[in-house]
Amino acid sequence: MPDIDDRQRRERRIVRALGGASDDALTLIMDALGDDIDLSQVTPEIWAEIERRFSGALLPELEQLFIDQALRLMDEVRVGIDFDLINTRAQTWARNYTYDLVKGINDNSRASLQQYVSNFFEQGVTKGDLEAQIARLYGPVRGEMIAVTEVTRASVQGELAYGEELTKLGLTLVPIWQTRNDGIVCPLCEPNNGQRQGDGWTDPPPIHVNDRCFLTYEVISPTKTLHILKDCKLPVITKDAA
Ligand SMILES: [Zn+2]
Repeated sequence: MPDIDDRQRRERRIVRALGGASDDALTLIMDALGDDIDLSQVTPEIWAEIERRFSGALLPELEQLFIDQALRLMDEVRVGIDFDLINTRAQTWARNYTYDLVKGINDNSRASLQQYVSNFFEQGVTKGDLEAQIARLYGPVRGEMIAVTEVTRASVQGELAYGEELTKLGLTLVPIWQTRNDGIVCPLCEPNNGQRQGDGWTDPPPIHVNDRCFLTYEVISPTKTLHILKDCKLPVITKDAA
């Protein structure tokens, strides 16, 4: 049961965009450091530019995914809400979240760079090794982890935003944790499989880096409990409320 229609394609697109941003960042940093490895030349303006590139790679993808998943869930639940509401929520969430995420990435990069450069001057690390360390910092591994984790997050956040709007209409969306049951489920997520929110878990996926878990939902109306399956166009009525 796929959770997002084209999850792999979206992940790959983000990996690619982050790869471009990482290449830019590496070039900006290496050019600024120069032959003398002068850390003071990596100015706040350069870090701000790197932040802009990473935001540009992430924000549009996360915003679109948020909207798509909210609309997809709306399609399944069949209770329409104003598109502008979803759109505004997507913009606000994507902007705030991307800002925090990219700032965190940048802060970590800056701390690592400081460490690498001080090792270069104080521990006799060669210039080639220093360059390799910086290149690794902006290599593909981090981008792939970010892509997987943030695709999970943006989709869940879009769905939950739709759920909050449903609440205003008197319906309750109950999230149910779904792991992939693919034999490589981590011990952190495994016990949550099939459990409703509040039943052993509180925070929705992702709860760790590379978390690909997703949610399905029950919609509780004052009279009926509808079980929503992600692939199912029509909600299946599983039981009548007492
Ligand atoms: Zn998980």
